[in-house]
Amino acid sequence: MSETPLPPLPDTRRDGVLRFFHGPMDCGKSTLALQMNYNHARQGRRGLVLTKHDRSGGARVTSRIGLGLAAIEVDDDLDLVELVRSRDGIDYLICDEACFYTVAQIEQLADLVDRHGVDVYAFGLASDFRSRMFPAAQRLFELADEVLRLQVEVLCWCGRQGRLNARIVDGVMARTGEQVVIADTDGAQVHYRVLCRRHYRSGDLGPVAEPLLPAVTPA
Ligand SMILES: [Zn+2]
Repeated sequence: MSETPLPPLPDTRRDGVLRFFHGPMDCGKSTLALQMNYNHARQGRRGLVLTKHDRSGGARVTSRIGLGLAAIEVDDDLDLVELVRSRDGIDYLICDEACFYTVAQIEQLADLVDRHGVDVYAFGLASDFRSRMFPAAQRLFELADEVLRLQVEVLCWCGRQGRLNARIVDGVMARTGEQVVIADTDGAQVHYRVLCRRHYRSGDLGPVAEPLLPAVTPA
């Protein structure tokens, strides 16, 4: 490998971010919300999952494709800043069905980002059955750092956005080999991991190696 590894980043807490992912019903928002929570928790980050009026009718985030996770039900009187402050070391919030929150609660989310360094990922409908914007969604459009139509986000081990697919062979990032090797991201002898550009170029797989599973014999 020809690239010189980059020096480690300074250990400074970055600013929080407020992101709003929106899309019509059944476009996979809750699936993405659950995936986002998984991605962040897998990197050792601490978060809370919130919802309101989930399709299950309970305090859960459930997706159309069958995934589910216990969640905190957001009623109109819940102060989201107080909720986070009552817990230790919360890094992020997953706010599903944020279109149904109150406008005051959206303001609280912005406070959490700006004053407490919490990342807030909000998911919801933009508009109602009349094609009018929900008040909370409108406030998210006005305040969010980023407003995105549904897209899946993958994180590098360092927390940056994943951009490149690394092939891992026996725990080492491969730079040469067959163009196509069918494998998954499950930690088998040959597998793939998505890395940020920096760590893809340096070949740094992070402080915690993924457990190696027994080799899979090709059929
Ligand atoms: Zn990285």
